[in-house]
Order: sequence, then C-alpha cells, then structure tokens
Amino acid sequence: MNKIQIAGKEFEILLENDQISKRTRLIAIQIDVDYESRCPVFIGVLDGSFIFMADLLKEIHVSCEIGFIKVSSYSGTESTGKVKKIFGLPEYLHNRDVIVVEDIVDTGLTLNYILTEIHKQKPSSVTVCTLLLKPGALKTRIEEPEYVGFEIGNEFVVGYGLDYDGLGRNLKDIYRSKTVAVP
Ligand code: 5GP
Repeated sequence: MNKIQIAGKEFEILLENDQISKRTRLIAIQIDVDYESRCPVFIGVLDGSFIFMADLLKEIHVSCEIGFIKVSSYSGTESTGKVKKIFGLPEYLHNRDVIVVEDIVDTGLTLNYILTEIHKQKPSSVTVCTLLLKPGALKTRIEEPEYVGFEIGNEFVVGYGLDYDGLGRNLKDIYRSKTVAVP
C-alpha cells in the first residue's frame, strides 16, 4: 500500500517494515557490542515507542532490564506554561547504564525533560536510541541520540507506533503527510 487515508487525511509511504526491521537489527548489534558485559536498563517512552521497543529488544542479546514511562504535558500557571510530568520512571537508576528508547525526536523538548529527570538519579551513563529523528531536534537536544534509525524531513509521520489523532499506531509501515501540522 503506497497511499492510505486516516481520518480523511491522505498519507504516503515513507519507510517499509522491511527497511525498519533491517535498521533495527543493525542498531541492536551495535548496542550489544557497546554494552557487552554490562546490564543496561532500557526505558521505552510510551505510547509511540511500543512497537519499536518490542522489535528492538527481541534483537538484543546482552542481559538487560526493561521499563516504560509515559510523559504527559498539561497547562501550568501562566509563568510555567506547559508543564510535563513523567509516570512510571524506575527508581533504581543510580549507577546504572540507561538507554532511553524513543519513537521520534522532533523539537527534543520531551527528550530533554526525560533526560533531566533521569540524571537526578545519577546513573553511570545515559544514551538515547530513537527510531526517527527530525532536524528540528538539533536546536534543543542536550544529549545527541547515540542510536538513530532514520533521519527524516520536517513532515508528519504515522504508523509503526506513531498516531494521527489516535489512529494508525497499528500500521506496519511508516507513512508521511506534508500537510498535517506537527503537534
Ligand atoms: P518533541 O518534544 O521532540 O518535539 O516531540 C516528541 C513527541 O511529539 C513524540 O514523542 C511524538 O509523540 C510527537 N511527534 C513529533 N513529531 C511527530 C510526528 O511526525 N508524528 C507523530 N505521530 N507524532 C509526532
């Protein structure tokens, strides 16, 4: 399927599942090498990372622990603007090697917030693995994602865990629309 419609919007294919799987296997090999004889804690950022996280971890062979967090943003006071909150962050990250697994990094603001919270526990290392990276991230990120699946343009993508208006997370491939404003 090269074109699909979700909630009346047209999307075209960007990355086929096969390409994603191949890239994911390569990332897993790299992580296995980098973390040999360590026991990293993988932290997936819900909801979008659930498919990538599962596919990636099936290819990882080093001994490891796995957790998930959810980041929500809500309106704070006028001075604080949008406030973010993390749910489910493991509390045993002190002296651990942490790998944050993201579906997509866009402005990098969500990632910055997550990393700040993780660093409070003084882990021995923190790296980021993201399936997709948009160029906007360059402006704000405090730590460069160590493992990047694909760099994509400034376009809205859906599928393979990513949604449009709550829909499309179950699609095997990733589709793009240049006409949908990024949230
Ligand atoms: P950031 O804080 O890096 O700007 O945004 C991160 C979050 O915005 C992602 O975790 C994702 O939920 C959402 N997001 C950013 N770009 C896209 C996109 O192209 N498609 C979808 N479905 N979500 C996106």
